[in-house]
Amino acid sequence: MPDSELYDLIIIGGGPGGLTAAIYAMRAALKTVLVEMGAPGGQVNNSDSVENWPGDEHIGGAELAMKFSSHAQSYGLEIRSDEVVEFEPGLDFHTVKLADGSSLRSHAVILATGGNPRKLEIPGEDDLYGQGVSYCAVCDGFFFRDKTVVVVGGGDTAAEESLYLAKLAKQVYIVHRRDALRAGALLQQRVKAECKIEVLWNSVVTEIKAGIEGVRAVNIEDVQTGEQRELATDGVFIFIGFNPNNALVPAGTRMNADGNVVTDEKCETNTPGIYVIGDLREKYARQIVLSAADGCTAALAAAHYVETRKAAEACELPAELEDATS
Ligand code: NAP
Repeated sequence: MPDSELYDLIIIGGGPGGLTAAIYAMRAALKTVLVEMGAPGGQVNNSDSVENWPGDEHIGGAELAMKFSSHAQSYGLEIRSDEVVEFEPGLDFHTVKLADGSSLRSHAVILATGGNPRKLEIPGEDDLYGQGVSYCAVCDGFFFRDKTVVVVGGGDTAAEESLYLAKLAKQVYIVHRRDALRAGALLQQRVKAECKIEVLWNSVVTEIKAGIEGVRAVNIEDVQTGEQRELATDGVFIFIGFNPNNALVPAGTRMNADGNVVTDEKCETNTPGIYVIGDLREKYARQIVLSAADGCTAALAAAHYVETRKAAEACELPAELEDATS
Protein backbone atom coordinates (compact mmCIF):
# COMPACT_ATOMS: atom_id res chain seq x y z
CA MET A 1 0.00 0.00 0.00
CA PRO A 2 1.50 3.42 -0.90
CA ASP A 3 2.32 5.76 1.96
CA SER A 4 -0.35 8.35 2.73
CA GLU A 5 0.51 11.87 1.62
CA LEU A 6 2.79 13.82 3.96
CA TYR A 7 1.86 17.42 4.78
CA ASP A 8 3.55 20.04 6.91
CA LEU A 9 0.25 20.80 8.60
CA ILE A 10 -3.19 19.24 8.88
CA ILE A 11 -5.97 21.49 10.18
CA ILE A 12 -9.03 19.64 11.47
CA GLY A 13 -12.09 21.91 11.41
CA GLY A 14 -13.03 24.76 9.09
CA GLY A 15 -14.55 27.39 11.38
CA PRO A 16 -13.09 30.89 11.81
CA GLY A 17 -10.13 29.45 13.76
CA GLY A 18 -9.30 26.71 11.26
CA LEU A 19 -9.70 28.95 8.24
CA THR A 20 -7.59 31.72 9.78
CA ALA A 21 -4.92 29.15 10.62
CA ALA A 22 -5.08 28.04 6.98
CA ILE A 23 -4.61 31.62 5.73
CA TYR A 24 -1.49 32.06 7.88
CA ALA A 25 -0.14 28.59 7.11
CA MET A 26 -0.52 29.07 3.35
CA ARG A 27 1.14 32.48 3.55
CA ALA A 28 3.99 30.81 5.48
CA ALA A 29 4.34 28.31 2.59
CA LEU A 30 3.41 25.30 4.68
CA LYS A 31 2.05 22.38 2.71
CA THR A 32 -1.40 22.41 4.35
CA VAL A 33 -4.64 20.48 4.13
CA LEU A 34 -7.82 21.42 5.99
CA VAL A 35 -10.41 18.73 6.73
CA GLU A 36 -13.99 19.83 7.37
CA MET A 37 -17.07 17.61 7.36
CA GLY A 38 -19.70 20.38 7.20
CA ALA A 39 -19.94 23.77 5.54
CA PRO A 40 -16.79 25.91 5.90
CA GLY A 41 -17.34 28.54 8.59
CA GLY A 42 -18.73 26.22 11.25
CA GLN A 43 -21.11 27.70 13.82
CA VAL A 44 -20.76 31.19 12.29
CA ASN A 45 -23.13 30.00 9.57
CA ASN A 46 -25.87 29.88 12.23
CA SER A 47 -25.52 33.56 13.19
CA ASP A 48 -28.05 35.87 11.61
CA SER A 49 -25.92 38.96 12.06
CA VAL A 50 -22.40 39.38 13.40
CA GLU A 51 -21.80 42.84 14.81
CA ASN A 52 -18.45 42.52 16.53
CA TRP A 53 -16.13 41.36 13.78
CA PRO A 54 -13.76 44.34 13.44
CA GLY A 55 -14.21 46.21 10.19
CA ASP A 56 -17.78 45.04 9.61
CA GLU A 57 -20.46 46.78 11.67
CA HIS A 58 -23.02 44.24 10.47
CA ILE A 59 -22.35 41.14 8.45
CA GLY A 60 -24.39 37.96 8.02
CA GLY A 61 -22.79 34.88 9.60
CA ALA A 62 -23.00 32.86 6.39
CA GLU A 63 -21.46 35.73 4.41
CA LEU A 64 -18.58 36.06 6.88
CA ALA A 65 -18.01 32.30 6.76
CA MET A 66 -17.90 32.42 2.97
CA LYS A 67 -15.38 35.28 3.08
CA PHE A 68 -13.11 33.33 5.46
CA SER A 69 -13.29 30.30 3.19
CA SER A 70 -12.67 32.12 -0.09
CA HIS A 71 -9.79 34.08 1.49
CA ALA A 72 -8.11 30.81 2.57
CA GLN A 73 -8.76 29.20 -0.81
CA SER A 74 -7.29 32.18 -2.65
CA TYR A 75 -3.87 30.86 -1.55
CA GLY A 76 -4.61 27.45 -3.06
CA LEU A 77 -5.58 25.76 0.23
CA GLU A 78 -6.51 22.10 -0.17
CA ILE A 79 -9.81 21.38 1.59
CA ARG A 80 -10.96 17.79 2.15
CA SER A 81 -14.73 17.50 2.77
CA ASP A 82 -14.71 14.47 5.00
CA GLU A 83 -14.99 13.35 8.59
CA VAL A 84 -11.86 12.64 10.60
CA VAL A 85 -12.46 9.31 12.34
CA GLU A 86 -9.10 8.93 14.06
CA PHE A 87 -6.10 11.04 14.97
CA GLU A 88 -2.93 9.16 15.94
CA PRO A 89 -0.04 11.27 17.20
CA GLY A 90 3.37 9.87 16.33
CA LEU A 91 7.02 10.60 16.98
CA ASP A 92 8.03 11.06 13.33
CA PHE A 93 4.69 12.32 12.04
CA HIS A 94 1.02 12.35 13.01
CA THR A 95 -1.66 10.36 11.16
CA VAL A 96 -5.22 11.47 10.48
CA LYS A 97 -7.67 8.85 9.22
CA LEU A 98 -10.71 9.92 7.21
CA ALA A 99 -14.15 8.31 6.89
CA ASP A 100 -13.48 7.51 3.21
CA GLY A 101 -10.69 5.14 4.32
CA SER A 102 -7.79 7.36 3.30
CA SER A 103 -5.23 8.77 5.70
CA LEU A 104 -3.06 11.87 5.84
CA ARG A 105 0.26 12.39 7.63
CA SER A 106 1.81 15.59 8.87
CA HIS A 107 4.51 17.11 11.04
CA ALA A 108 2.00 19.33 12.88
CA VAL A 109 -1.75 19.24 13.51
CA ILE A 110 -4.14 22.00 14.50
CA LEU A 111 -7.39 20.79 16.08
CA ALA A 112 -10.21 23.29 15.53
CA THR A 113 -13.29 21.16 16.02
CA GLY A 114 -15.34 23.63 18.08
CA GLY A 115 -18.37 22.47 20.06
CA ASN A 116 -22.04 21.47 19.91
CA PRO A 117 -25.10 23.01 21.53
CA ARG A 118 -25.67 21.76 25.06
CA LYS A 119 -28.95 19.95 25.72
CA LEU A 120 -31.39 20.40 28.57
CA GLU A 121 -31.82 16.61 28.84
CA ILE A 122 -35.52 16.89 29.68
CA PRO A 123 -38.50 14.83 28.50
CA GLY A 124 -39.66 15.79 25.02
CA GLU A 125 -36.40 17.46 23.97
CA ASP A 126 -35.09 14.67 21.76
CA ASP A 127 -38.49 13.42 20.58
CA LEU A 128 -39.56 16.89 19.43
CA TYR A 129 -36.22 17.95 17.93
CA GLY A 130 -37.01 19.25 14.46
CA GLN A 131 -40.71 19.40 15.35
CA GLY A 132 -40.61 22.57 17.39
CA VAL A 133 -37.41 22.04 19.37
CA SER A 134 -34.42 23.82 17.88
CA TYR A 135 -30.90 24.98 18.69
CA CYS A 136 -30.70 27.50 15.82
CA ALA A 137 -33.03 30.46 15.42
CA VAL A 138 -31.58 31.47 12.06
CA CYS A 139 -32.20 27.97 10.70
CA ASP A 140 -35.69 27.43 12.13
CA GLY A 141 -37.08 30.83 13.16
CA PHE A 142 -38.87 31.20 9.83
CA PHE A 143 -41.26 28.38 10.80
CA PHE A 144 -42.48 30.39 13.80
CA ARG A 145 -43.75 33.53 12.08
CA ASP A 146 -46.60 35.01 14.16
CA LYS A 147 -46.30 32.16 16.65
CA THR A 148 -45.21 31.90 20.27
CA VAL A 149 -41.76 30.61 21.15
CA VAL A 150 -39.86 29.86 24.33
CA VAL A 151 -36.12 30.55 24.51
CA VAL A 152 -34.13 28.83 27.25
CA GLY A 153 -30.91 30.45 28.51
CA GLY A 154 -29.62 33.81 29.62
CA GLY A 155 -26.31 34.25 27.78
CA ASP A 156 -25.35 36.26 24.72
CA THR A 157 -26.64 33.56 22.40
CA ALA A 158 -30.06 33.37 24.08
CA ALA A 159 -30.36 37.17 24.01
CA GLU A 160 -29.24 37.51 20.39
CA GLU A 161 -31.42 34.70 19.15
CA SER A 162 -34.42 36.02 21.08
CA LEU A 163 -34.02 39.37 19.35
CA TYR A 164 -33.85 37.57 16.03
CA LEU A 165 -36.95 35.50 16.85
CA ALA A 166 -38.84 38.62 17.97
CA LYS A 167 -38.62 39.86 14.36
CA LEU A 168 -40.68 36.83 13.29
CA ALA A 169 -42.70 35.49 16.20
CA LYS A 170 -45.65 37.22 17.87
CA GLN A 171 -44.34 36.46 21.38
CA VAL A 172 -40.97 35.32 22.77
CA TYR A 173 -40.61 34.08 26.35
CA ILE A 174 -37.06 33.84 27.66
CA VAL A 175 -36.94 31.29 30.47
CA HIS A 176 -33.88 31.91 32.63
CA ARG A 177 -32.88 30.04 35.76
CA ARG A 178 -31.59 33.12 37.61
CA ASP A 179 -32.73 36.69 38.25
CA ALA A 180 -30.19 38.32 35.91
CA LEU A 181 -29.08 37.65 32.36
CA ARG A 182 -25.50 36.62 31.70
CA ALA A 183 -25.65 38.40 28.31
CA GLY A 184 -23.65 41.60 27.73
CA ALA A 185 -25.12 44.95 28.83
CA LEU A 186 -25.98 46.15 25.32
CA LEU A 187 -27.83 42.95 24.47
CA GLN A 188 -29.67 43.11 27.80
CA GLN A 189 -30.85 46.64 26.98
CA ARG A 190 -32.08 45.53 23.58
CA VAL A 191 -33.93 42.57 25.10
CA LYS A 192 -35.61 44.83 27.66
CA ALA A 193 -36.59 47.32 24.94
CA GLU A 194 -38.19 44.64 22.74
CA CYS A 195 -41.88 44.58 23.62
CA LYS A 196 -42.40 41.11 22.12
CA ILE A 197 -39.94 39.58 24.61
CA GLU A 198 -40.89 38.68 28.17
CA VAL A 199 -38.31 37.20 30.54
CA LEU A 200 -39.54 34.56 33.01
CA TRP A 201 -36.97 34.87 35.80
CA ASN A 202 -35.85 32.13 38.20
CA SER A 203 -37.52 29.54 36.04
CA VAL A 204 -36.57 26.33 34.28
CA VAL A 205 -38.27 24.26 31.62
CA THR A 206 -38.76 20.74 32.97
CA GLU A 207 -40.69 19.16 30.09
CA ILE A 208 -41.59 19.85 26.48
CA LYS A 209 -45.05 18.59 25.57
CA ALA A 210 -46.25 17.37 22.19
CA GLY A 211 -49.47 18.36 20.48
CA ILE A 212 -51.03 16.97 17.33
CA GLU A 213 -48.27 18.61 15.27
CA GLY A 214 -45.02 19.31 17.12
CA VAL A 215 -44.64 21.25 20.35
CA ARG A 216 -47.80 22.27 22.23
CA ALA A 217 -46.49 23.55 25.57
CA VAL A 218 -43.68 23.51 28.10
CA ASN A 219 -43.77 22.77 31.79
CA ILE A 220 -42.13 25.55 33.78
CA GLU A 221 -40.89 25.35 37.33
CA ASP A 222 -40.19 28.36 39.53
CA VAL A 223 -36.86 27.45 41.14
CA GLN A 224 -37.57 29.59 44.21
CA THR A 225 -41.09 28.40 45.03
CA GLY A 226 -41.11 25.03 43.28
CA GLU A 227 -44.41 26.03 41.64
CA GLN A 228 -45.12 24.26 38.34
CA ARG A 229 -47.16 25.60 35.47
CA GLU A 230 -47.83 24.91 31.84
CA LEU A 231 -47.07 27.54 29.21
CA ALA A 232 -48.51 27.14 25.72
CA THR A 233 -45.90 27.54 22.98
CA ASP A 234 -45.31 26.51 19.39
CA GLY A 235 -41.55 26.18 19.66
CA VAL A 236 -38.65 25.85 22.09
CA PHE A 237 -35.21 27.26 21.29
CA ILE A 238 -32.44 26.09 23.59
CA PHE A 239 -29.29 28.22 24.02
CA ILE A 240 -27.58 27.06 27.20
CA GLY A 241 -24.00 26.88 26.01
CA PHE A 242 -22.26 24.07 24.25
CA ASN A 243 -19.99 21.08 24.70
CA PRO A 244 -16.54 21.09 23.12
CA ASN A 245 -15.98 18.48 20.38
CA ASN A 246 -13.02 16.78 22.02
CA ALA A 247 -13.44 13.23 20.70
CA LEU A 248 -10.27 13.53 18.59
CA VAL A 249 -8.12 14.96 21.37
CA PRO A 250 -5.35 12.41 22.00
CA ALA A 251 -5.20 10.59 25.33
CA GLY A 252 -2.86 12.31 27.76
CA THR A 253 -3.68 15.81 26.49
CA ARG A 254 -4.28 18.26 29.32
CA MET A 255 -7.98 19.25 29.58
CA ASN A 256 -10.13 21.15 32.09
CA ALA A 257 -13.30 19.93 33.82
CA ASP A 258 -15.50 21.20 30.96
CA GLY A 259 -13.55 19.14 28.41
CA ASN A 260 -11.70 22.10 26.92
CA VAL A 261 -8.04 21.61 26.07
CA VAL A 262 -5.52 23.59 28.07
CA THR A 263 -2.73 25.01 25.90
CA ASP A 264 0.18 27.37 26.29
CA GLU A 265 0.27 30.87 24.79
CA LYS A 266 1.19 29.36 21.40
CA CYS A 267 -2.04 27.27 21.49
CA GLU A 268 0.25 24.24 21.72
CA THR A 269 -0.88 21.26 23.80
CA ASN A 270 1.42 19.29 26.07
CA THR A 271 2.39 17.33 22.93
CA PRO A 272 4.79 19.37 20.77
CA GLY A 273 3.44 20.01 17.27
CA ILE A 274 -0.21 19.50 18.27
CA TYR A 275 -2.19 22.72 18.62
CA VAL A 276 -5.78 23.35 19.74
CA ILE A 277 -7.65 26.52 18.84
CA GLY A 278 -11.08 28.16 19.01
CA ASP A 279 -13.97 26.89 21.13
CA LEU A 280 -12.23 23.61 21.91
CA ARG A 281 -9.45 25.47 23.74
CA GLU A 282 -9.87 26.68 27.34
CA LYS A 283 -10.25 30.44 27.23
CA TYR A 284 -12.01 33.41 28.81
CA ALA A 285 -14.64 33.91 26.08
CA ARG A 286 -15.75 32.22 22.91
CA GLN A 287 -15.75 34.80 20.15
CA ILE A 288 -15.15 34.69 16.41
CA VAL A 289 -12.32 37.16 16.76
CA LEU A 290 -10.69 35.03 19.45
CA SER A 291 -10.92 31.86 17.36
CA ALA A 292 -9.36 33.75 14.46
CA ALA A 293 -6.61 35.01 16.76
CA ASP A 294 -5.96 31.45 17.96
CA GLY A 295 -5.73 30.34 14.33
CA CYS A 296 -3.10 32.96 13.62
CA THR A 297 -1.09 32.08 16.74
CA ALA A 298 -1.19 28.33 16.15
CA ALA A 299 -0.29 28.58 12.45
CA LEU A 300 2.71 30.84 13.16
CA ALA A 301 3.85 28.51 15.95
CA ALA A 302 3.32 25.44 13.74
CA ALA A 303 5.34 27.04 10.94
CA HIS A 304 8.22 27.62 13.35
CA TYR A 305 7.90 24.05 14.69
CA VAL A 306 7.88 22.47 11.23
CA GLU A 307 10.78 24.58 9.94
CA THR A 308 12.86 23.78 13.04
CA ARG A 309 12.14 20.05 12.70
CA LYS A 310 13.01 20.02 9.03
CA ALA A 311 16.22 21.97 9.66
CA ALA A 312 17.19 19.51 12.41
CA GLU A 313 16.45 16.55 10.13
CA ALA A 314 18.55 18.10 7.34
CA CYS A 315 21.50 18.52 9.74
CA GLU A 316 21.38 14.92 10.92
CA LEU A 317 24.33 13.00 9.52
CA PRO A 318 23.64 9.66 7.86
CA ALA A 319 24.42 6.79 10.26
CA GLU A 320 27.55 5.63 8.32
CA LEU A 321 29.07 9.15 8.44
CA GLU A 322 28.22 9.48 12.14
CA ASP A 323 30.12 6.22 12.78
CA ALA A 324 33.14 7.49 10.79
CA THR A 325 33.35 10.75 12.75
CA SER A 326 32.95 9.20 16.20
P1 NAP B 1 -23.11 30.93 27.97
O1 NAP B 1 -22.54 32.30 28.02
O2 NAP B 1 -22.39 29.83 28.64
O3 NAP B 1 -24.58 31.05 28.59
C1 NAP B 1 -25.35 29.91 28.81
C2 NAP B 1 -26.66 30.33 29.48
O4 NAP B 1 -27.47 29.18 29.64
C3 NAP B 1 -26.43 30.92 30.85
O5 NAP B 1 -27.29 32.01 31.05
C4 NAP B 1 -26.73 29.77 31.79
O6 NAP B 1 -27.30 30.19 33.01
C5 NAP B 1 -27.80 29.01 31.02
N1 NAP B 1 -27.78 27.59 31.30
C6 NAP B 1 -26.72 26.74 31.25
N2 NAP B 1 -27.10 25.49 31.54
C7 NAP B 1 -28.42 25.54 31.79
C8 NAP B 1 -29.40 24.57 32.14
N3 NAP B 1 -29.09 23.28 32.28
N4 NAP B 1 -30.66 24.98 32.32
C9 NAP B 1 -30.99 26.27 32.15
N5 NAP B 1 -30.14 27.24 31.81
C10 NAP B 1 -28.86 26.88 31.64
O7 NAP B 1 -23.37 30.41 26.48
P2 NAP B 1 -23.68 31.25 25.14
O8 NAP B 1 -24.73 32.26 25.38
O9 NAP B 1 -23.90 30.23 24.09
O10 NAP B 1 -22.33 32.00 24.84
C11 NAP B 1 -21.14 31.26 24.67
C12 NAP B 1 -19.98 32.22 24.45
O11 NAP B 1 -20.12 32.85 23.18
C13 NAP B 1 -19.92 33.33 25.49
O12 NAP B 1 -18.58 33.61 25.76
C14 NAP B 1 -20.56 34.48 24.79
O13 NAP B 1 -20.10 35.73 25.27
C15 NAP B 1 -20.16 34.24 23.35
N6 NAP B 1 -21.15 34.81 22.42
C16 NAP B 1 -20.97 36.08 22.03
C17 NAP B 1 -21.85 36.65 21.15
C18 NAP B 1 -21.63 38.07 20.74
O14 NAP B 1 -20.83 38.74 21.39
N7 NAP B 1 -22.28 38.57 19.70
C19 NAP B 1 -22.94 35.93 20.67
C20 NAP B 1 -23.11 34.63 21.10
C21 NAP B 1 -22.20 34.08 21.99
P3 NAP B 1 -26.41 30.97 34.10
O15 NAP B 1 -26.28 32.37 33.59
O16 NAP B 1 -27.22 30.84 35.33
O17 NAP B 1 -25.11 30.23 34.17
